[in-house]
Amino acid sequence: MQKVIYKPGSRAREYAWLAANLFTGCPHGCGYCYVPGFFHIPREEFLKTAPRPGVLKVLEKDAALIACTNRRVMLCFGCDPYPLPPIGSEWRGEMATLTRKAIKILRKHSVPFMVLTKAGMAAALDFDLYRPCDMFGVSLTFIEPAHSEEWEPGAALPASRIEALRLAKSKGIFTFVSLEPVVSCVETLELIEQTHDFVDHFKLGRWNHSKDANTYNWRNFGIKAIERLEKFGASYFIKQDLAAHLDGVEFRNTETRTVDGGPPDDLKRCTAPVPRCRVRKEPLTEGQLFLKEEAESKGGEVKMDPDMPGHHDPDMCECTECKKSRGGD
Ligand code: SF4
Repeated sequence: MQKVIYKPGSRAREYAWLAANLFTGCPHGCGYCYVPGFFHIPREEFLKTAPRPGVLKVLEKDAALIACTNRRVMLCFGCDPYPLPPIGSEWRGEMATLTRKAIKILRKHSVPFMVLTKAGMAAALDFDLYRPCDMFGVSLTFIEPAHSEEWEPGAALPASRIEALRLAKSKGIFTFVSLEPVVSCVETLELIEQTHDFVDHFKLGRWNHSKDANTYNWRNFGIKAIERLEKFGASYFIKQDLAAHLDGVEFRNTETRTVDGGPPDDLKRCTAPVPRCRVRKEPLTEGQLFLKEEAESKGGEVKMDPDMPGHHDPDMCECTECKKSRGGD
């Protein structure tokens, strides 16, 4: 295996600049899942879930290379990070702790992460590991248990996912909901109504990979969804596939792929001895400050991108621009 942390392509990139898939396969068996088709795997085969061999070892290397990045790493895209029966089930094998170990590795290298799961309360076991820069998210397509059982037979019921969100929020974790695919417009709108109190951010898309989806009035749905999100003062992101139906409709997407809401850094460990200065004088955001303090608390040199806001000290810097701003000393 060459890489675990990778740069997702096209639509997935609207969620995260970086992602890591820890497992092969997914036991949830969602009827709308595009992954088996994308990788030309029979659906029954895709149900067989297992940890990717050697995944943690490679993750450790990959995380070290992007230490202190401002990009949140998504766990996971092509699988669920908690492919388990809910808490209380008798069987919880090696897979139960793999994601916990992965999160610890990311923390060790000060890499922020966001979890996206349909496992409901099974994910709550790791809530103690979240920092202010991390995010916990669930996918919600239905609110009716019967619809969820029909379409997502292996996943936790919506009530368990919503309970996990509520619990995460009560623990001070940044929460988000992925509202896609939208199979039932009515249920998706209802989900916004029922969860906005404890959800910090919504990602909204549409339904793709289905002929039925082409019969929906996506413009009408998008307008109604935006009206609700705005009414609740919610933070949200409308994905391109839905936005394409919303010509002339005003909406304000919020960026959550980076800790500071800014563009992604392209961090390598900083080995330059200074001065390579393109100083930005704005202070560190709360999330960046946390990452910086955490890196410092590990006792080593803080290796951060010199272009990162606040990293560089213009009063000490020896570059021409800073010297000039100090009066040419
Ligand atoms: S949870 Fe995601 S990866 Fe798993 S079957 Fe459902 S859609 Fe596919």
